[in-house]
Amino acid sequence: MHARSGSSARLGSPPRPGPEELDRALTILNAESRDGCRDRVVIGGLAGFLRHAAAAAPDGGLRQAAALLADYRTLPVQTRALRLAEAVRLLLEEKEGKKVKEAKSGAGGAASPVRVGPKAPPRAPQPTRARVSAPPAGLTPQSAIESLKGVGPQRARLYKRLGLTTIRDLLFHYPTRHVAYPPATAIDQVFFQDEASVVGTLERLDTEVLPRGLKRLRATVRDDTGVVEAVWLRHGNAYLGIKVGEAIALSGKLQRFGRRLTFDNPEYERGDEPALHTRGLVPVYPLTAGLFDKELRTRIHWAVEHFASALVDPLPATVRAEQRLAGLDDALRSLHFPGSLAEYEAARRRLAFEELLTIQLVVLRRRRAWQAGGAVALPRRDDALDALKAGLPFRLTAAQERVTGEILADTTASRPMTRLLQGEVGSGKTAVAALALMNAVANGYQGAIMAPTEILAEQHYASLARLYAAAGERLEAVLGRVPVVRLLTGSVKGKERSAVYAEAAAGGLDVLVGTQALIQQSLDFARLALVVVDEQHRFGVKQRVTLRRKAQELVGVPHLLVMTATPIPRTLALSLYGDLDLSAIDEMPPGRTGVRTVVLGPDERDLAYERVRRAAALGRQAFIICPLVEESASLEARAATEEYERLRTGELRDLRLGLLHGRMKPAEKDAAMRAFRDHETDALVSTAVVEVGVDVPNATVMVIEGAERFGLAQLHQFRGRVGRGEHAADCVLVSDLADPTTNERLRAIERSANGLELAEQDLRLRGPGDYFGVRQSGLPDLRVARLDDAGLVEGARRTASAILASDPELLLAEHESLRAHLAAFQARAEEPS
Ligand code: ADP
Ligand code: MG
Repeated sequence: MHARSGSSARLGSPPRPGPEELDRALTILNAESRDGCRDRVVIGGLAGFLRHAAAAAPDGGLRQAAALLADYRTLPVQTRALRLAEAVRLLLEEKEGKKVKEAKSGAGGAASPVRVGPKAPPRAPQPTRARVSAPPAGLTPQSAIESLKGVGPQRARLYKRLGLTTIRDLLFHYPTRHVAYPPATAIDQVFFQDEASVVGTLERLDTEVLPRGLKRLRATVRDDTGVVEAVWLRHGNAYLGIKVGEAIALSGKLQRFGRRLTFDNPEYERGDEPALHTRGLVPVYPLTAGLFDKELRTRIHWAVEHFASALVDPLPATVRAEQRLAGLDDALRSLHFPGSLAEYEAARRRLAFEELLTIQLVVLRRRRAWQAGGAVALPRRDDALDALKAGLPFRLTAAQERVTGEILADTTASRPMTRLLQGEVGSGKTAVAALALMNAVANGYQGAIMAPTEILAEQHYASLARLYAAAGERLEAVLGRVPVVRLLTGSVKGKERSAVYAEAAAGGLDVLVGTQALIQQSLDFARLALVVVDEQHRFGVKQRVTLRRKAQELVGVPHLLVMTATPIPRTLALSLYGDLDLSAIDEMPPGRTGVRTVVLGPDERDLAYERVRRAAALGRQAFIICPLVEESASLEARAATEEYERLRTGELRDLRLGLLHGRMKPAEKDAAMRAFRDHETDALVSTAVVEVGVDVPNATVMVIEGAERFGLAQLHQFRGRVGRGEHAADCVLVSDLADPTTNERLRAIERSANGLELAEQDLRLRGPGDYFGVRQSGLPDLRVARLDDAGLVEGARRTASAILASDPELLLAEHESLRAHLAAFQARAEEPS
């Protein structure tokens, strides 16, 4: 029996997929990818094909791939592409595992479908590793790129465009991906593949001159088993760099003309040198016009060979050993020129760990610096707290009680609190802040609470004043007076403003509520002990740091409580907010009616307006959010204005409409928001700027146009604007997609009301770059790490803590390179961005 006659050979053997099945599946997955993930390659669907193929495989790559692609048809194209790539990776891994096994099983390995011609050495095992050599004389990693042979000022400019000015930069110019070319095959086997690699002798090379300066190069390549042709279309020079009679390697796609096979514009290189541009995993780099992959790849390879081992590894040897991570040089080699996907992944993880460790060291040191100062200890004043609670129009939820306890436990100590309080919109963070502030007041100190907009500051001011007033005489009796709450925003001017300043400085006011006015002015507090910052993500980390610095200059180190409604996946919290302790209100006050969520297609838009009109008829209000226009705020503003005009004269002409967009002046925005709050308008047509945190309990309808363009977290935030009162509320997502039910995000938001779950899903779907605040966080750019890689993030966190515990200033010899690395990073981060 012929060793390769698949089906009959399989009969008696255990049901494992043979290499043929794997290859066939790979061919189909590749074809699907080339076809643009439209699920047209297999009649009956890709999922069906894989399910069928996997039926013969009890476990392993095919099975996993089939599971991964089971719902392929229902996925959006981007997700399809990602899943497809992952499936290909699984199959390749499986295939590789097989090859290893076959190789190990020794002489019996005749079943291998890959026969290698005598002139076709398999891809040299790790040529880069085998050929490490010392740096050429006179050059160091810091040498300018011009010092390379063949790089003059003109080419150097091209490199500079990619941010590459030194040899070291070449090493850190990471590939965006790798093309996986098959290993070299004997030419007579090429017939069975549609993408292949061969090594043979260049037998003929013809150049044909075509119109418009084009040339066609046609090569004939032979090995012991047969002949194959390759064709390249060229502009300008027709130089191959390989002479007839010399060895050549080719990798690429095959075109079939009857029985004749031709490589169509394949990658090629000399066949007597280790593989770099063909065969196996070939890196693809970010490029710029005039600088091509082949040149960049060659130079980076050269740089890696000669200089990777000259770099100083920032990771201490002990950390490397403990985390079982490769050295920087090996990691760089494998990241650029891996021998296998597993090797690539190990290298990526190593470099990712380094990035995450840097972040953790930055945030943990920030936290240490903050806590190094002493704060005033504020013992629990249960008499005042009980008085306040007794006056509340509601009972605190268990979650509110718990987080209040966590906060007060912190402020009892003389170590400054730095705590983040997360709680969904409407979960009652204000009451918690009111309690914490009152505890400071009862101890004879002052508190401040800062909001990102005037209208939110006003809202807090009104809430605090109301809560403290409701506690009435009982609270007065404890304090010995009526607590004094004041408001300070940009609109507070003249005498009123000076009065607030005077009261703050003299200690006459207890709690000051305000906007950034609290930190931008030279405001003096007599005894400030607690600062609360609301809706923190609106400020960004830089402002948080400014606030602390300012507070520190003014009053020493107060306790700091930061509040946000945005659910933060734990891994992101560790990084972005790694300098803060976390408390979460994970429970909503009872009696909330919840929000119904429906998704409408473009031709069902009328239903949304009908819902708005009906709400208005009942005396309720509605938000109408316009589609996101990411490219330009002014385009977005114009679109919103047009939509406003259209509705005002059309579907909603009987309602009072307001307009809110990012191009309006702050005062205009506040006016529009106020008019809505005070029910002078029935519906507010708004872009995504709609104020987070503004409480309009009378609003019961949230219409979101172009919903598919928003992130999950943002959709969830919008939805949180309604359903805050006693009336049932609706969130209507209008999508321009013909069939919105196929959109993963819209389905998720329709299904789930859990913000954290949605945020985690969002992070998976979009990556952290799109997540709020990451870009302005002042943290290092992540190049290979992902903040949602929980294991790695937590490992980095533990390692950073351990390092700082034993050596806070990184003064030990083994931390020297780490210290330099961090200093370089912080210098970069502090450059104005
Ligand atoms: P957020 O967490 O979004 O800042 P707020 O503090 O504005 O939420 O509270 C939202 C609404 O819920 C307010 O009207 C507040 O009075 C009310 N509320 C807060 N805590 C409770 C509770 N335990 N029971 C009932 N209602 C509450
Ligand atoms: Mg709030």
